[in-house]
Parts: sequence; structure tokens; C-alpha cells
Amino acid sequence: MKEIILVKYGEIILKGGNRSKFEKILIQNIANTIKNIAETKITIQQATVYIEVFDEDKIDIVCERLAKVFGIVSIVKARVCDKNIESIQKAAAEYLKDDLLPGKSFKVEAKRCDKRFPLNSIEIGMEVGGYLDDAYDGIVVDVHNPDITVRVEVRDVNAYVYARENRIKGQGGMPIGTGGKATLLLSGGIDSPVAGHMIAKRGIDIDAVNFFSFPYTSERAKEKVEELAAILAQYTSRVNLYIVPFTEIQLAIRDNCPEEHMTLIMRRFMMKIAERLAEKHHSSALITGESAGQVASQTLMALNVTNSVVKMPVLRPLIGMDKIEIIERSQKIGAFETSILPYEDCCTVFTPKHPTTKPKLFVIERSESKLDVDALIERALEGIEKIEIFPKL
Ligand code: ATP
Ligand code: MG
Repeated sequence: MKEIILVKYGEIILKGGNRSKFEKILIQNIANTIKNIAETKITIQQATVYIEVFDEDKIDIVCERLAKVFGIVSIVKARVCDKNIESIQKAAAEYLKDDLLPGKSFKVEAKRCDKRFPLNSIEIGMEVGGYLDDAYDGIVVDVHNPDITVRVEVRDVNAYVYARENRIKGQGGMPIGTGGKATLLLSGGIDSPVAGHMIAKRGIDIDAVNFFSFPYTSERAKEKVEELAAILAQYTSRVNLYIVPFTEIQLAIRDNCPEEHMTLIMRRFMMKIAERLAEKHHSSALITGESAGQVASQTLMALNVTNSVVKMPVLRPLIGMDKIEIIERSQKIGAFETSILPYEDCCTVFTPKHPTTKPKLFVIERSESKLDVDALIERALEGIEKIEIFPKL
């Protein structure tokens, strides 16, 4: 074995007595994510996960997938070597030859986890630094601001060498499955996938619900939502997507309620149906992609009107974010290109010309009372289609 992946995790370490439970879930999630790529051996020791990849050609793709696993702070490939200073020196010189180029500055940072090792960390640093300085022309030591930080970790069985600069940043957050489950109202837009990702990052499993207005919205629009769910599933390993038939409700609102109240009444139906679905599937909260003031239905007064139909907490992680910030996140998680595909959403089909921005709850309730709300909801629930979504590869 020449190379191994070292995975560092963050917040779990703070979990005190529950730490091993969190570690177990993280390992399980890692194993699930990479099981179809290569045969691996995964072990955990001293707050580091070690992943041996038996097919060396697959090591980079394994690293790429690990970069989407919540709970991981950093990922790095390292050279494994014997626990004696000569082996460590040789391994460092050989393994980092593409990094230690003429003109580069470097320093060595050693960590001695095995206190029986005869040299302490400062001594290891000096021995390895001196060796590298002799081995390569044109490199200089700079302990304050080096181009390359050579890391040496002397652990239980082996020592490991890598350059800190070659680390890949992980997602951070908590492992999925440690935080229960929430139900995401997933539209085809930019915002809701970002909202789902932000909540999933806290270790929360995601069910998704989409309201679909056939034939006003096309099959392509549905495929777009499925694709967005598959992008989210890259982070959560799986998403159950529930497609709710929404046409009957939208037509009933259009035919019976004032046009300017349409969006809000529609949103109240969405919230109620999502809550019913969440209760059925043991989910503890709803998630939306709402951001204060972004559109008429997202003023604080409007949010109050839609929020008042549900008891469950409604998580709105984007509430204080600007559109530009949301777009940046959307690009980072890989959803943006899909989100901007130009297929209509059920809301865009039935948008009033002049929506109310300062709605009063009793006024909206009076408009809504023209409808047989309970019967409409029951019929929508009966027509739900469940689709199991797996990661988009
Ligand atoms: P998005 O970019 O997520 O579509 P938006 O800015 O277009 O959001 P709205 O259309 O007002 O805003 O929707 C607000 C939130 O309501 C969305 O973020 C989403 O959580 C939910 N939502 C809207 N339309 C649907 C839909 N057809 N199915 C499921 N949820 C929806
Ligand atoms: Mg939308």
C-alpha cells in the first residue's frame, strides 16, 4: 500500500459521550457513498478516517465523492511509510516531487500521535526539512508563509506524509442521519435546492415534495425537479420525492377567489399538504426556499399568512440571503445549470398580475372559505406519486 486517503472531521469531535455514535454514522455514510466505485477498507482512529482504495486508479474519484459527504472537513491523499525517520524522509522526498519545485518555499509540520516514537515533532520537522533541503535544488525554508507545508503524521501503525495544500475542502456540517428528517418543498427554481442543501448539511435527512400542475406544466418540468432531487441526493445518498397533483386546487382557486390572493392561497395549500405528508413520513419540519422580500409572497406579512396554516416548524435557511449569495451557493452545489432550465413551474402558470404584498390574514381566510379546502387536500393526497431518487452521477 503506497497511498491512502485521510479524512478529517470536525464538529463530531465536540459530541462528548455521543461521539462514537456520530462516528459510526459518518463511516456508514462514507461506505455507502463509495461502495460502487471501488473496493476499500475504512478504519477510524484518533479523529481520522483512513480509506485504503484497492484499485489505485479510483482514488481520485473516491476523493471527489467524499467531498460531498456531510461531516467531513477535509480530504487528502497521503503516502504511507514505515515509522522510522529514514523512511519518512525518503517518502516525503519522493511523494512530493511535483510540489517541491525550484523557487518554492516550504516548511515541515510534524504531528507525533504515537508518543513512543523516539523523535518529538520539532525534531521530526528538522530532520525531514533538512533532508528535503538537501534533496532538492532551489527550494527554501520559510516557516511563516511557505508555498508548501509538508505534513508528517506519526500514528499507531504507520507514518503518513502529504502536502497541506493538496487537501480538498469537505462540506463540513454533520453526517446525514444524525439530525432526523425534514420535508423540503422543492420547486424547479434556484432557491429551494439550496435551502435543502443547507438543512441537510446539519445532518438532516431530506424528503422532497413538488406540486405539479399537469397539463399546465410539462413532463420536462417534472424531469427537471427529479434532476434537482438527484443533485441533492449526491449529498444525502437518497431523496424520496413526492409529486402532488395540484391542478384541481389551482383551478378551484382561480375560479373562486380574488385574483390578487391566488398566490397566497396556493402557498397555504402547499404548506398544509406538505405538513400532512411530513407527518405521515415521520418528518419533523418543513423547508422552503423563501427569502424575505424576494417576491410579493415573501414579505413578512405574506409569510405570516402562509405560516399560519401549519404547526410544524418551517425552516427557511435563505431568509436573510440576497439572490446573488443564493446563486453562488447554487453554483457551488452543482444545481444552478439545472435550476435555470426554462421549464415552467406550477406557480408561474397561475401568477396574478397584482399580488397583494400586505395581506391581512382574515381577508385571505375569507377568500379561501369559498373553497372546500379539506376535500381538495384529501384528493391531492390520494393522487401523490412517490419517486425514489438516487444520486446523479
Ligand atoms: P424557488 O427558486 O425555490 O422556486 P422562488 O423564489 O421561485 O423559489 P416561490 O415560487 O414564491 O419562490 O416559492 C417559494 C418557495 O415555495 C420555494 O422556495 C419552494 O420551497 C416552495 N415552492 C414553490 N413552488 C413550489 C412547487 N411547485 N413545488 C414545491 N414547492 C414549491
Ligand atoms: Mg419558484
